[in-house]
Amino acid sequence: MKTEEQLIAEAKHLARAAKYFKWTGPGRISALAGWRRHGNCCVYCDKDFTKDWEAMFDSHTDHLLPRSYNEILWDPRNLVRGCWPCNTLKNDYDANRELPEDKLPEDGGRYTSGPHLTRRQHEELLSVCRIEVAKRRERQRAIMEEALSAWNSLPPSVSPPPSMALDEVQPPAPLPMLPIADLLAPISELQEVTLADTAKGADENGLDVESPETGPRGAAPPGAGTAAVTP
Ligand SMILES: [Zn+2]
Repeated sequence: MKTEEQLIAEAKHLARAAKYFKWTGPGRISALAGWRRHGNCCVYCDKDFTKDWEAMFDSHTDHLLPRSYNEILWDPRNLVRGCWPCNTLKNDYDANRELPEDKLPEDGGRYTSGPHLTRRQHEELLSVCRIEVAKRRERQRAIMEEALSAWNSLPPSVSPPPSMALDEVQPPAPLPMLPIADLLAPISELQEVTLADTAKGADENGLDVESPETGPRGAAPPGAGTAAVTP
């Protein structure tokens, strides 16, 4: 494993050489340690991240033990480099439960507390995670191959090909315009009901109420509501 000084020098070099590597945050050097520890491939499926830019873009920093292990969140030995599918499939899998409880941590026993994993714990956790991710990849492969087969059984698409020139694409038909009175009718009816109810309630209380908009109670003229909306 590289020393912290070496990693800091490498991080500076990368940040000077490429915008992509201007990483910030508490785990910057630890993540770089994770990226540098196991070569240029996904630790789970061996995908080569140096093949092209899209492969490089697919690199993710994976927490060997999930984020619930807050004490070792940025411990360099808790970080590895995985591709998006492996990282997603692994999710918050807890490999620690699979390690023996009765061994000393130095011999690869289960992590219990403290800011660091031992080298043996790192190796054994990684080996347990690899087995689990391989199982999950296999399950997902079956699901996706079934999905792909179902998709490919659809009849050919009726959408225009993406190469069609813009001026050949017909604009959508305009929506039919409704007369303004039709649009306002429901509002007018609602206001009439509300005002009539108000007048009724006032009447029950022995009050004589007039509305400034409708005149005497219960006498809302046709179109009174529309007048209030369209000055
Ligand atoms: Zn992978």
